[in-house]
Amino acid sequence: MLLQNRAVFTLGLRMCSTHVTKGPLIDTARPSSDMSEFRKAFAQAKHIAIITGAGVSAESGVPTFRGENEKWRKWQSQDLATPEAFSRYPSRVWEFYHYRRELVLNKKPSAAHLAIAECEARLKKQGRSVVVITQCIDDLHRQAGSKHVLKIHGNLMETRCVSCGEVTVNRRSPICTALKGKGAPGPDVADAEISVDKLPRCDERDCHGLLRPNVVFFGETLDSHILTNVEKEMEICDLCLVVGTSSIVYPAAMFGPRVASRGVPVAEFNTNTTPKTEYFTYHFQGPCGTTLPAALAQHESEVF
Ligand SMILES: [Zn+2]
Repeated sequence: MLLQNRAVFTLGLRMCSTHVTKGPLIDTARPSSDMSEFRKAFAQAKHIAIITGAGVSAESGVPTFRGENEKWRKWQSQDLATPEAFSRYPSRVWEFYHYRRELVLNKKPSAAHLAIAECEARLKKQGRSVVVITQCIDDLHRQAGSKHVLKIHGNLMETRCVSCGEVTVNRRSPICTALKGKGAPGPDVADAEISVDKLPRCDERDCHGLLRPNVVFFGETLDSHILTNVEKEMEICDLCLVVGTSSIVYPAAMFGPRVASRGVPVAEFNTNTTPKTEYFTYHFQGPCGTTLPAALAQHESEVF
C-alpha cells in the first residue's frame, strides 16, 4: 500500500484533474464521525498538517470555476489555466485571472480560515506546530493570520515573467491599464483581445517580458522546493486534516492517503464524501466553516 501510494505520488507531480480513482481499501470500516474521538487525537498531536482546497475559499465567496454551473464566459478553469491556452490566448487568460484577482481582493477570510490561523497561534505557544498545505491560490489563509502556509498551486497575487523568470508580489488593481474594467464573466461577453504588449509586462531593467500569473497551470509541474517541504511535513505530522477539497486534483489528492498509510489519523472535513474518504479515520460532513471551528477549538487538556 505504502509503495503504491509512493508510486502515485512520484508520478503525479504534474497537476492534473481526474474523477473517481478508487484504490484498494485500507480498512473496510467507514470513517468515524465521532468528534470526541477526533478531539482526543487532536489533544495529543504535536505536528498538525492541514491540507485545504477550494471549499475553504468558497465559503468566503471565491468561485472555483470547476463545475458546470461555475463558468467564466463559456469556460471552466481547466480550459483556461493551461500553458497552451496562455500561449494561444494570453489576453483571454489574463482577463480570466484579472477577474479572479479583483474578486479575491474584496473577500474576507471564512470561519474555517480563521479557526486554522487561531489554532496555529495558540498551539505555537505550547511548542506544537500547524502547517497549512493549500491548493488555494488566493491570499485568505495569510489574511486570516496563518504563518506557515505552503501554497502548492501558486499565488494569484504574484506574477512571473515568461522571459526572465522573476517572481513578484503584485496586488495592483487593476494590474495594468488595458485590463481595467475587463474580465466580466457573463456567457455573452466578447474577448477584449488586448494586444500582447498592453498586457502586464516585466518591470526588470531591459526585460519587458510578458508576465503570467504565478500559478500552476493544469499539466505543469509543481514547484519542487515547495514539494520537498510538503514531503517533510507529510513525514513528521502526527495528525492530518483534509479540508474543503474534492480530492480529485493530483498530486494533492494523494497527500492525505499517504499520511493515512503511515497509520497517522487523518480527518476529512467536506460537504460531501470524496474518492479518498474511505482512506481516512474520520469524516465530518458539512460546511467546513461550521465543522472546523469546533474541531480546532481549545481542548481542556491544553496548558499555557
Ligand atoms: Zn522579466
